[in-house]
Amino acid sequence: MFPILETKEIAKNVYLQRIQAPRISKKRKAGQFLVLRRNEEGERIPLTIVSSDTVGGSVTIIFQAVGKSTTEFAEMKVGDTYLDVVGPLGLATHIEKFGTVVGIIRAFENMAATGSGGFAVVAAGISEALVATAGGLLVGVLAMLPVTLVVLATPNCGAT
Ligand SMILES: Cc1cc2nc3c(=O)[nH]c(=O)nc-3n(C[C@H](O)[C@H](O)[C@H](O)COP(=O)(O)OP(=O)(O)OC[C@H]3O[C@@H](n4cnc5c(N)ncnc54)[C@H](O)[C@@H]3O)c2cc1C
Repeated sequence: MFPILETKEIAKNVYLQRIQAPRISKKRKAGQFLVLRRNEEGERIPLTIVSSDTVGGSVTIIFQAVGKSTTEFAEMKVGDTYLDVVGPLGLATHIEKFGTVVGIIRAFENMAATGSGGFAVVAAGISEALVATAGGLLVGVLAMLPVTLVVLATPNCGAT
């Protein structure tokens, strides 16, 4: 059984739910999804994992109530349980420039926490993203240096 820790309507017919699922929360990577079933009679419904809390052992989903199953999910309350939560499923999304993503995520988290998007709120995350990008570029340039030197020192190498 997988209890709901938090459920709220974040936009018209769009719901956010945080579900206790410790083992999934530890393994989950960005881009993966779950298959949930409310009870024995329920359909198995795939929903993307939005985020996970490895310390608290929960995963967060966001879904639109469009049909029978998702409408039933939307009616569930804190403490209600899903019979089955299977995952994480699917190939994880390949993310490059990880530092940039982390910084931008931090900026959005700050905006969500404060409910505003002013410069003071996003500055720390953007600055983190810029520093991480600069670090990534430096590593890339240093990694290409030996190759460039070999190409320059080799007659006819690199000519097209
Ligand atoms: C990988 C993946 C990730 C997804 N992630 C998200 C997400 O993050 N957020 C989101 O909002 N959506 C997501 N979706 C879409 C989501 O899974 C669908 O919107 C959802 O499956 C539809 O739910 P429903 O309530 O309309 O289903 P239902 O109306 O319950 O229908 C589900 C199936 O059951 C059948 N069915 C329903 N009732 C009956 C019945 N009485 N008898 C027989 N058959 C019946 C239907 O024909 C259908 O095939 C994702 C889909 C996939 C594939």
